[in-house]
Amino acid sequence: MAPTIENMLLPEEVAAMRQALEIGITYREGLDSRPIPAQIGAEEAHRRFDHALTEDGRPAEKVLADLAGIGDEGLLQIASPRFFGYVVGASHPVGVAADIVTSAWAQVTSYAETTPTTVAVENAAVRDVLALLGLPADAGAGCVTGATVANTVAVMAARGAVLRGAGWDVEADGLFGAPEIHVVAGAEAHSAIDAALRYAGLGARRVHRVDTDQQGRMVVESFASVMAPLSGPILVILQAGHVNSGAFDPFAELIPIARAKGAWVHVDGAFGLWVNAMPELAARCEGVATADSWAVDLHKWLNAPYDSAMVVVRDRASLVSAMSAKGAYLPEASNVPDPADTVLELSRRARGLSSWAILQHLGSAGVREMISRHCRQAAWVASQLEAEPGLTVLNEITANQVAFHAGSGGDRDAQTAAVLHAVQARGRVYPSHGNWRGGEIIRVSISGHRTTDADVALLVDEIRSAWRAVQAEAS
Ligand SMILES: *Cc1c(COP(=O)(O)O)cnc(C)c1O
Repeated sequence: MAPTIENMLLPEEVAAMRQALEIGITYREGLDSRPIPAQIGAEEAHRRFDHALTEDGRPAEKVLADLAGIGDEGLLQIASPRFFGYVVGASHPVGVAADIVTSAWAQVTSYAETTPTTVAVENAAVRDVLALLGLPADAGAGCVTGATVANTVAVMAARGAVLRGAGWDVEADGLFGAPEIHVVAGAEAHSAIDAALRYAGLGARRVHRVDTDQQGRMVVESFASVMAPLSGPILVILQAGHVNSGAFDPFAELIPIARAKGAWVHVDGAFGLWVNAMPELAARCEGVATADSWAVDLHKWLNAPYDSAMVVVRDRASLVSAMSAKGAYLPEASNVPDPADTVLELSRRARGLSSWAILQHLGSAGVREMISRHCRQAAWVASQLEAEPGLTVLNEITANQVAFHAGSGGDRDAQTAAVLHAVQARGRVYPSHGNWRGGEIIRVSISGHRTTDADVALLVDEIRSAWRAVQAEAS
């Protein structure tokens, strides 16, 4: 029988959508009793999903049951409040709920005239994020997948603007034969910056590197001496939130030096830019809002479901020139910004809806409470680890990151790795690994919306007892 209006959704499909919700809710409700690491490795997971496509398909109920059942042991519990790895967010359930609606609505969110609701909601999310982060209200912005892409889009906007200033139209004529762009970045810029420079055709190897201090911050004198001989188009890339230390480049000192050379200043603020939402902490990133462009993740500290980030460009025209699918010179169909003009994708999901829902739900006070809680918890964790003989905290706590190592001398790397391995294997909390300042470190990132003081107390207990066990074994 052909589908009729009454059965636009077949009973089996309604059941599958309900089943999916149940899978999601059951998973989240059971998070507390699961070990945090995945219980099977990559090869075993592949083996489990190695059944070939059938000719006739399978009932939806069975497909979803397999996804949840066979997939279960290969899940890493990133949404747990005791997941402290990699600076990730824990996908706030209200954002997940909005994401489900986003998928169901199937709005290809490119032009305001065609999908007015989802474009309006994304633009509202942009407005709210700019206000919270203290960025210019009339900046151009795009909702992209992550800070890697946000950095890439910003570098493309910058590339066009600085070359226009030198009489070159990169959007029309490309990079061959263009005046050289000098790119200046810190020695400890995130690897995503190298990727952005590669994608934008600027190359990762020709960057002028600026020395960094013990916290990974650019040294002002080094920046000034790198900048001094440069002339012509210049792109300066600064960082708000070093991935190991959480440190901020000294924007208030660096940006005026860059300005004096007519440079474009971009800030990679993947997670750290959220500190600027806190009036009492904003001094840590003073001057950050005077840059030309910013990349900020929504899926890290805002806890939007993956994947979600924002690129923000002060001069909207530069962003549109670089991104617009209809060409920079065509008038916009309406007075409201079209996503197609500010991101790489043409067909795209309404990725910003989940962030809008989280912001509406938490309110500005709720967002600030979360960020200030994480910063306070990071300071407390650092003080507790410092108090344990043999553990050394390497960073000043300026955000939500704690970097430390265990032991000393030639055994230090091995002991640090042994502590991390023991903590992760017990599975109750999950910090992650890093390599910084010439050795192995354990990195604690506090960014889960639901992380409590009891969760971070457990983290400290687990690390302390693992370290004591490692020492007992060595002696
Ligand atoms: C996480 C991070 C990135 C990359 O962001 P994605 O969202 O993973 O693409 C870039 N820069 C910094 C400082 C980061 O912390």
